[in-house]
Amino acid sequence: MHGGGRAVPAQEITIKAAVAQMPVEYTHCRDYGHGWQPHDVREVGRHYERTQRCHRCSTQRHQYINRKTGRLEGGTSYTYPDDYLIKGLGWFSADDRGAVRLVSIKDDMGKAS
Ligand SMILES: [Zn+2]
Repeated sequence: MHGGGRAVPAQEITIKAAVAQMPVEYTHCRDYGHGWQPHDVREVGRHYERTQRCHRCSTQRHQYINRKTGRLEGGTSYTYPDDYLIKGLGWFSADDRGAVRLVSIKDDMGKAS
């Protein structure tokens, strides 16, 4: 659904290869942050269990919110699309983020009117 990309052995992957096969929407999410939209809210005991979904990459964010105080309790967790996280790459360095940002910006330029 997100366009093809060749498989690269995890130990050989570089940021360039990862960005080249990454759907461009993912570069926007890594650049701007996710674009959260409401997806689901349930009442679970003393909490709201809230799920939000990113309109670009479909990552889901799950939170437990105290129904009385509104405080976040129990932390925030994420469910990513299968190909969002890049195996073989650890945390992105500033240069890695820069490489992703350049792809995101070039795509923005293509869309700018
Ligand atoms: Zn996203």
